[in-house]
Amino acid sequence: MTSVGIIGDGVAGLTAAVALARRGFDVTVIGRGFRNTNSYLAQAGIALPILDGDSLRAHFIDTVRAGGYLNDEEAVWNVLSRASEAHDFLTSIGLEFETSETEGGHSFHRVFTIRNETGKHMTNVLHMAAREAGVNFLEGFVEELGVGDRRAYGVFLNGEFLKFDATVVASGGFAGLYRYTAGSPLTIGLLIGDAVVKGSPARDLEFVQFHPTGYIGENGVFLISEAVRGAGAKLVTEDGERFVNELSTRDIVARAIYRQMQDGKRVYLDATGVEDFKGRFPQIYAFLVNDGTDPSKDIIPVSPIAHYTMGGIAVDLWYRTAIRNLYAVGEAASNGFHGANRLASNSLLECVVSGLEVARTVARERPKVGEVPELPYAFDSLGDVDSIREVLWEHAGIVRTEEGLREGLRELGETDVDPRLKLLAEGVISCALVREESRGAHYREDFPVMRKVFERPSFFEGDCHL
Ligand SMILES: Cc1cc2nc3c(=O)[nH]c(=O)nc-3n(C[C@H](O)[C@H](O)[C@H](O)COP(=O)(O)OP(=O)(O)OC[C@H]3O[C@@H](n4cnc5c(N)ncnc54)[C@H](O)[C@@H]3O)c2cc1C
Repeated sequence: MTSVGIIGDGVAGLTAAVALARRGFDVTVIGRGFRNTNSYLAQAGIALPILDGDSLRAHFIDTVRAGGYLNDEEAVWNVLSRASEAHDFLTSIGLEFETSETEGGHSFHRVFTIRNETGKHMTNVLHMAAREAGVNFLEGFVEELGVGDRRAYGVFLNGEFLKFDATVVASGGFAGLYRYTAGSPLTIGLLIGDAVVKGSPARDLEFVQFHPTGYIGENGVFLISEAVRGAGAKLVTEDGERFVNELSTRDIVARAIYRQMQDGKRVYLDATGVEDFKGRFPQIYAFLVNDGTDPSKDIIPVSPIAHYTMGGIAVDLWYRTAIRNLYAVGEAASNGFHGANRLASNSLLECVVSGLEVARTVARERPKVGEVPELPYAFDSLGDVDSIREVLWEHAGIVRTEEGLREGLRELGETDVDPRLKLLAEGVISCALVREESRGAHYREDFPVMRKVFERPSFFEGDCHL
């Protein structure tokens, strides 16, 4: 029986696991528990252009507009046209959506949601379905992919080699490589860096989405979902002045807040006018109240935080990487679906679609690894990851300049950290340097406009080229 190892137990990994196990593969998922994934934290929901009055074309236009026209059109059509399949799959395993709402950048209320805890419910039913389908679960952190001569043979977990015929990277993005993020601190992109080292390029690394409304409180960083703005909350300065259309795309809102903060002003979200905040946003309400802020009475201090990484291991439409028998799905992968900026709630859709699609690809290719050659394994420790977080936050953040990026590269050279994380951070900075324009989530103060000549994805394989 063909064995498949999936690294990551978020929506992408679990979807792939269910789909592969149902096809009779011997599937093992390795992760830190689905409650520790970013998927579990997803609040708003999943964008599906399937309601009466909506259309694929409208969703396509919204996606490409948000993506700064850098999206791979084939990838966009490919994902969006599988939305009804994704909906069917999720409901068939027991997920029950409650309502559909709108978010910044969407021209239709197509974000399917469950009490603003969509990710929690989605990962829960997927995990149950995976168990029912006979998927094996191993808890742990994969240190390295087992790759020799551009062919994958499995993974290294706790120094021990586990052999798989097919290996699927579903380990999420790398927003956790920034100082402030509301996501899991484990999403640092180690395996993205590892894949680059072992011969599979990364794509579009410079595009990092900052969520405009993070709450940096006593009890950690928490995200105040866009849906709160969708429900009517307003952004105001400490003087009570509004300064941006709250429903613009994330990059616009994040930069507007950043500018106010650069001018020395604190920024707040005023949700006091939102009816039944507690009932509509129970997770957010509980976190804020626990932290001493009652959103029905108090304005909420907010700051942009690193949220989502559009880039990842470059894959084709079938989620194959440049390494044989190695596949990548979800936020860890990049085939241009999001372009330069992800449209809100498009990532859960991509996770489900890529999970279902990769199962078809593996079923078609039926990879089989024979004898395993001597494989390189050099893991020692992750090192001082916080030092990278500081460098990226300071020099490759919301607003970038050539000077700052070069300083970032210099400081990166002084960090004492796993070389694959260093390489990934180098990829972010060097691609941000090469892209002398502003597009989507990438904003260069020294090149503040979009330039036609840069309407191309970037690829990083040790150096960055467009
Ligand atoms: C607070 C928050 C709210 C969000 N809300 C929404 C939303 O409403 N709608 C939407 O579409 N998107 C949302 N997103 C984005 C979305 O949740 C993620 O893009 C998506 O869930 C990524 O899923 P994934 O399966 O690719 O990876 P993840 O869910 O990130 O899961 C990957 C898992 O793999 C683990 N892992 C990483 N490396 C290794 C390793 N080496 N070995 C073993 N395990 C490893 C990670 O720890 C992680 O737990 C949100 C993100 C955050 C942080």
